[in-house]
Amino acid sequence: MSKDARKQVNLTDDARKKLADCVAALASCGFGPEGPPLDTTFAEIEDFGHEMGRLLARALDEELAHQHAAHFAGSASCPRCLTECPIAEHPKARDVQTTDGDVSLHEPACHCPVCNRDFFPSA
Ligand SMILES: [Zn+2]
Repeated sequence: MSKDARKQVNLTDDARKKLADCVAALASCGFGPEGPPLDTTFAEIEDFGHEMGRLLARALDEELAHQHAAHFAGSASCPRCLTECPIAEHPKARDVQTTDGDVSLHEPACHCPVCNRDFFPSA
């Protein structure tokens, strides 16, 4: 996914269908299979939609970060002493606070035995 994708995302037909299915499932979870009752205000509908958007954003953050972390393998140079250090095969989870709430990220990490410090490899 390119940085340009942040500006405009062209969903495939399959993705549109899955999004519609996801929307229907979330709406049903929030208001039941018959939808919002008659006395529901638009503000309540909007609040629910916003919360579901934040939920989707957190899920995307975790999925994309996981995919991104998979690109890191092998070793990386310590930023302080340049020793080649192995990248941990099983990244540790780290809770990160985003604008949409807390997400658990599995980031690639290295430990430099010379400097006795942990660091995150960079691209
Ligand atoms: Zn080092």
